[in-house]
Amino acid sequence: MAILELRNVDKFFDDFVAVDRVSLSIEEGEFFTIVGPSGSGKTTMIRMLVGMDKPTNGQILLRGEAINDVPANLRPTCMVFQSLALFPHMTVGGNVEYSMKCKGVPKPERRRRALHFLSVAHLPESYYDKPVTQCSGGERQRVAIARALAFDPEILFFDEPLSAIDYRLRKVLERELKDIQRATGKTFVYITHSLEEAMVMSDRIAVMRKGRIAQIGTPNEIYRSPNSHFVSEFMGEVN
Ligand code: ADP
Repeated sequence: MAILELRNVDKFFDDFVAVDRVSLSIEEGEFFTIVGPSGSGKTTMIRMLVGMDKPTNGQILLRGEAINDVPANLRPTCMVFQSLALFPHMTVGGNVEYSMKCKGVPKPERRRRALHFLSVAHLPESYYDKPVTQCSGGERQRVAIARALAFDPEILFFDEPLSAIDYRLRKVLERELKDIQRATGKTFVYITHSLEEAMVMSDRIAVMRKGRIAQIGTPNEIYRSPNSHFVSEFMGEVN
């Protein structure tokens, strides 16, 4: 059974349709990327998937249960934003432990688990006591991933987390994210306007165009038979 399913989902803003009768299934343990040009409906999609917004029509199902009306904070999912939204006054460890503290996990156990997630996110243990304000952009990215993993969510959503990062570091973080997804076996749903990023990391890609899914498949399938101007242009097949 799919971990997440959309059945004929659409989203209207007045009479403008931003997401138009989208149906798709995401399998457990998949790295699934939704890619498309600016304005194609990616943000609107992810806002509905995480529960920040409700579909106008259609159903979103988590393991077969309809979740349209379940608010974001009651869903077993977690989001990593482009802004990362870390707590700036806290240490790295404090940020990673935050969700465990809220759940009442005792301090020694929190610390043990936080150190584990730091290591999964490719950060040294010595960073545990470091204020996040002293971390570089890439390190903050890793802290945000460690913190999201510490929630122990069933699905991690990513909203363009690498778009503000320079090219070389982005290449490193792309590989790390894919490694982390493989190592944890978690389902990752990733939104980006960069087809290059999508091609490197994803098990499957959905290409959005004007609120619809123009194409869905593995990077290899998308590469072999580009089915939209957006993809063809990336492949260098359009002047
Ligand atoms: P993307 O993330 O792919 O850039 P968006 O989901 O942000 O695309 O936007 C898709 C379309 O929906 C755009 O034309 C945008 O102007 C419109 N849109 C998004 N949010 C709203 C809103 N709250 N009110 C009206 N129109 C919106």
